[in-house]
Amino acid sequence: MLEQLRDGLRAAIKKLIYSDVVDEQAIKDFVRDIQRVLLQADVNVKIVLEITSSIEKEALRSEIPAGLSKRDYIINLLYNELVKILGNESKINFPRDKCNIILLVGIQGSGKTTFTSKLSKYLLREGYQIGIVCADTFRPGAYDQLRILCEKLKIELYGKKDEKNPLKIAIEGKKYFCEQNKNVVIIDTAGRHKEEKDLIQEMKEINRQVVPQLVLLVIDGTIGQQSYSQAKAFHDATTIGGIVITKLDGSAKGGGAIAAATSTQAKILFISTGEGADDIERFVPERFVSRLLGLGDIKAILERVKQAEIGTDETKARRIMSGKMTIDDLYEQLMQLRKFGSIRKLLELIPGMPEISDSIDTDKLEERLEKWRFVIQSMTKGERQNPDVLNASRIKRIARGSGVDEKEVREMIKQYNQMKLVMKRTKGKFLRNFLR
Ligand code: GDP
Ligand code: MG
Repeated sequence: MLEQLRDGLRAAIKKLIYSDVVDEQAIKDFVRDIQRVLLQADVNVKIVLEITSSIEKEALRSEIPAGLSKRDYIINLLYNELVKILGNESKINFPRDKCNIILLVGIQGSGKTTFTSKLSKYLLREGYQIGIVCADTFRPGAYDQLRILCEKLKIELYGKKDEKNPLKIAIEGKKYFCEQNKNVVIIDTAGRHKEEKDLIQEMKEINRQVVPQLVLLVIDGTIGQQSYSQAKAFHDATTIGGIVITKLDGSAKGGGAIAAATSTQAKILFISTGEGADDIERFVPERFVSRLLGLGDIKAILERVKQAEIGTDETKARRIMSGKMTIDDLYEQLMQLRKFGSIRKLLELIPGMPEISDSIDTDKLEERLEKWRFVIQSMTKGERQNPDVLNASRIKRIARGSGVDEKEVREMIKQYNQMKLVMKRTKGKFLRNFLR
């Protein structure tokens, strides 16, 4: 996510850390680096100058707090400034005994429908009972797009393929689900407008008639600073809104979108970093900045851990950490990791992990999990406990039993040995953070 911004910030920090002395010149260089990186990420010039002049002024002060190195002090300044421009965190917390309506608005293609499924999955995990209403009567494929997403998530969808009046569907859908005692109803709208003015008009109209508890404006992060006007118009029009910024995966302008939206004082509730149902993240400025700067943020992981309700027992964890894991352990760990979505993304969150993740072929790992399940099921208990006993003829037997190539069986054993090594080498730091 926001790779360019992240890499740029980290490079600037690294340069500062490795500079011989932190003198006036080094500070000025650092500030200039930060300026350049933020501008490249499409952050508004005014904001960039504000941040950097404040850092420069503070950093050049001769006295820094006792017990701090100048380098740490400066990095901390950067962290604080970035967090400050991103505003406060806010969170969805609906009363469970009420029927709460969420209205999603945003221009066409901004990612509303995709986000509808992400948000549903997210709220399902939080324990809400959810219904989805398809109030996009404009785009012919809209209903089917949502239907497929809903089927995957096993969430009921309300919609009518031939109805042309979105307002009518929104009202009927609300009634339909609220009568079933759902506590969250998400209404996905069409947003066929090209302009903010019309968008806000439609939003106001549905708003007035449906009376939602929360209106979310979905903004395409690739538009960068232009997000400002959308967010501002929206923020001025509703007091119960939050903002979602999508497509932050690999978007060079994402930094600008986030900065622009927050500078309107509107609250960013979520960011979205991919097309998959798990690519959703609650927006927490501190966490976000920690991740960008590479300060290794465990909080993000912990929240996901909680969400996936990981239940690894302690002794097992200890065994794995000491490098003595069995094939069963490996498999279980991999399956649990998979609950978090992409393994690679998860590894990225962990301090020091990117280096290790390079040594594991994570993409293939995910693809292979399914095959490995069959392989593991074809192994005897003894073999699973101690894979070292596997010789050519046993491998052949397992391959036959599981219907995969011998090569695949060997590959699994190789990966297993590699993971074991990594666990040992890092003393299970990876898992320990995970379980903490
Ligand atoms: P809507 O018109 O607002 O409902 O937008 P859609 O949800 O149909 O999304 C429009 C396009 O953007 C689709 O091709 C989605 O797959 C894509 N999309 C949505 N969210 C993301 C995201 O976070 N990252 C990426 N890369 N693509 C996204
Ligand atoms: Mg849509």
